[in-house]
Amino acid sequence: MRIVLLGAPGSGKGTQSQLLLKAFLIPQISTGDLLREAVAKRTELGLKAKSAMDLGKLVDDETVLGMIRERLSRPDAAAGFILDGFPRNIPQAEALQTMLCALGRPLQAVVLLNLDLGILFKRLSGRRICEKCGRVFNIYTAAPAALAHCDECGPEHKLIQRPDDKEEVIAKRLDVYEAQTKPLVAYYTAAGLLRVVDADADVNAVFNNIQKAIA
Ligand code: AMP
Repeated sequence: MRIVLLGAPGSGKGTQSQLLLKAFLIPQISTGDLLREAVAKRTELGLKAKSAMDLGKLVDDETVLGMIRERLSRPDAAAGFILDGFPRNIPQAEALQTMLCALGRPLQAVVLLNLDLGILFKRLSGRRICEKCGRVFNIYTAAPAALAHCDECGPEHKLIQRPDDKEEVIAKRLDVYEAQTKPLVAYYTAAGLLRVVDADADVNAVFNNIQKAIA
């Protein structure tokens, strides 16, 4: 299966990708995760990407496409993949199409996780991540039992907020989504690939609807 999960920041792409990867045993390829890893390791690419990320802007296409090209060439992607957070604009989508056609492995579906902007804002500003296990909580909708720390990892490990989940950066990220990423809805509709799923439901219900949409 070769799919793209499309949706604004906070629509649940990361969570749903994790479920898809467990169900279908194909890798989740998240450009956001790859970039955060590069930032944490302070690689040249990471240092270059950090300033755009901190401002909620897109990292330049050349950097992101280089990362994707390398990741898709790894053996585990031959059986399929879930693209999460990529493509983010029309030039990236066109480059992806060229890349996949050259490999003879075109996309099979693009799933749009559809969610109201007000809900997105709350999801992002409330998101907290366990620094140890990476589990994602939300202080408004899915708080850990102990509030200040992850249920499993205990009080010695903090819950952290992504720097780009601060309110002023969220607004910028949502603007960028509207201006640059949303045009992909029309692009993939025209290509006959788009499936729309209502993302304002609990995680398992959304997952079931994704499965139906790609069946
Ligand atoms: P995400 O975790 O997908 O919300 O991505 C976090 C940040 O990484 C974004 O706000 C961008 O700065 C950067 N980023 C992730 N994916 C892309 C992409 N496909 N193109 C450009 N920048 C990206």
